[in-house]
Amino acid sequence: MIEKVVTESGNECQHSSSILSDQQNNKAKPVVVRKKLVKKGLKKIHPLHATNGKSKASSLDRLSNSICKKAKINGKLSYSTVQSENDCDASSSVPSLASNFSGEELDSEIVQIPGDEESCSYITEEECDACDANEDTPLNISSDKTEVFQPALRFSAFSGVPPYLNFCLHDEKVVELPWTIRRCLKWKLSTITPIVVRKTVVNSGFRVIKEPKDWIGTWGKHMKSPLFTAILEHQKVNHFPGTFQIGRKDRLWRNMQKMVAKFGNDEFGFLPQTFVLPHDLRLLRKQWTRTTTDVPWIIKPPASARGTGIQVIHEWSQLPRKKPLVVQSYVKNPYLINGTKFDIRLYVFITSVNPLRIYLFENGLVRFASLAYSTEMNTLNDLYVHLTNYSVNKHCEGYVANEDANSCQGHKWTLQSLWTYFLGLGVDVEAIKSSLRDIVIKTLLSVAPALNDMLKNNVSNRYSCFELFGFDVLLDSDLKPWLLEVNISPSLHSTSSLDLSVKGPLIKDVLNMARFQFPNNVNSLSKQHLAEYISTHFKERMCEASAGSDEGSQYCVNPSTYNYELSEEEKKKNEFYETAVQRVVAVPNGNSWTVQNQSAEIEKRVDDVVEESTILDNLTRGDIQHLIETEDELSQSHGFTRVFPADNSERYFRFMEKTSYYDFLLNEWHKKFVNLRDRTLAIDYLKTQLEKKQVLN
Ligand code: ADP
Repeated sequence: MIEKVVTESGNECQHSSSILSDQQNNKAKPVVVRKKLVKKGLKKIHPLHATNGKSKASSLDRLSNSICKKAKINGKLSYSTVQSENDCDASSSVPSLASNFSGEELDSEIVQIPGDEESCSYITEEECDACDANEDTPLNISSDKTEVFQPALRFSAFSGVPPYLNFCLHDEKVVELPWTIRRCLKWKLSTITPIVVRKTVVNSGFRVIKEPKDWIGTWGKHMKSPLFTAILEHQKVNHFPGTFQIGRKDRLWRNMQKMVAKFGNDEFGFLPQTFVLPHDLRLLRKQWTRTTTDVPWIIKPPASARGTGIQVIHEWSQLPRKKPLVVQSYVKNPYLINGTKFDIRLYVFITSVNPLRIYLFENGLVRFASLAYSTEMNTLNDLYVHLTNYSVNKHCEGYVANEDANSCQGHKWTLQSLWTYFLGLGVDVEAIKSSLRDIVIKTLLSVAPALNDMLKNNVSNRYSCFELFGFDVLLDSDLKPWLLEVNISPSLHSTSSLDLSVKGPLIKDVLNMARFQFPNNVNSLSKQHLAEYISTHFKERMCEASAGSDEGSQYCVNPSTYNYELSEEEKKKNEFYETAVQRVVAVPNGNSWTVQNQSAEIEKRVDDVVEESTILDNLTRGDIQHLIETEDELSQSHGFTRVFPADNSERYFRFMEKTSYYDFLLNEWHKKFVNLRDRTLAIDYLKTQLEKKQVLN
């Protein structure tokens, strides 16, 4: 069989069907099984959707059906979107690993668990999508796209690194790998796995399985921190432990308060003043009596989403007393377009916590309220005027959908369209973008110490986690951005082509930057076939297996790379820099914080170190490994821009409780090779260092 293939370099070539076709391997392909995905109605969801609970099952069911149908039409995708493990391969030799996550997500009702900070299950729009009969068009994918197959594997810029699994767009496909290889590519389904993620992973060669015995990746809800200890060394999840510290509105405020106390309002005053009840009730009362009666406040449940339970109030008597609540100063003067209020959804991606690597997606969404804005007190209870959530406004009669990613019409725009609109008005867009980057970095720095602790205690391998966040920002009439909340399960709802134009490329980049590799715990036949596949299709990327290991194991994830014990010499280097870069410390002083400078001697050492940049002169094995990961990730960041480390990152060091050795290393690396798009020089330099050290052997 002849297929059109895009080679690694992007050229098209004729690709004869894999040397290890399914027929040759004499393996039966898995039976296509259509499963009902959702067992329960969702009556406890937002009242706006309660009546649609029944439709949720049918909506997802239809999706599943539609993908199965597509599979049959194309004749090439011989697997379904969803399979049970029993449907896969009875004779699979993958060791039986009881999944610690199985059942938990599928059987849990989609409701918020009050009082349980870590297990709060955020209601997302995917869940909402699924229960809304009017929105069940699965993915609006044009079918006339020429079938161009992307390579199934992607190689590092550096030799000796095991290949990465290549994720294509939701409407593309990768070349089908031989079944003995593909059978190991299992994606664990969760109740909230967004359709666009499912579509992307299926088209990239994965089988999405409901309760797999073993799996490589999953996209689910945030988990309690101890559950992270159960992640195996070849598995990746889409969360870091502890991110509820910004994902919950009450925690976000508490973390930001600490930063305001240490560094002042000028640096960290971008979250509207907030009171967390019942704890701050007295403080709120004081504040309330100081202001006039006609000042609006917005009240929110501490851990929910989609506008659920939100009200704008202006009288003390309207304040509910019985439940935990976040009361926030209402931004009364939002920037208006066509007389209506809007907010911005930014997508922020963290690939590593230590060192901290933060990326911001260049595109995003702009969501408008559906009715004209008013400051009249009698409009405060009109959610269509004061809230910008799509889940709320889509129910307004006046809501106008927008399918065009490039046009400034209707009640949803892309972020790129907003920038175009602003440029037309002569607005300084670069200044807004710079403030947004600043907010993103500072917000993540406010929780970095907590994340680091959680990571140390619960995750043994830095291969295991990545996380995509949704930052919601409101611009006021002076174009000052205000952070409203951070969503740790941002909606990836993609029923409109506008949504899909943003979220399709977003997910492709996220999964590629997460750098999935082939699991190492598969049987020797699969490894051997992987080696044969590489020797046939990527001859120049062949490398030797290390002595005593199975042929093919050199192409599988190597856990020791991500969990490597530093040598004594490396520890000394790390300690030296870690001590040297701590310029300021903040110490508690009663209820506030005092910033103290380190001794003059340390200041001098820092300056010496920075001037000499000795950290890059003699790269250690650990340094090189971190830099390889950073470069390979950057090479896949197409729609993202790395905002930390980036230009002027040193400015942020003083906000870090501790600048880690690797933060400092990456910052110096960035300064040496500033251009984030052309990495030729950086890669060549690293290749030379790699040859010297032979670190990957
Ligand atoms: P949710 O997580 O339920 O979406 P948000 O905090 O994002 O909660 O608030 C929902 C909507 O309410 C926002 O999209 C915004 O339009 C409006 N909003 C939230 N906080 C404020 C505020 N402090 N001032 C003005 N409007 C706000």
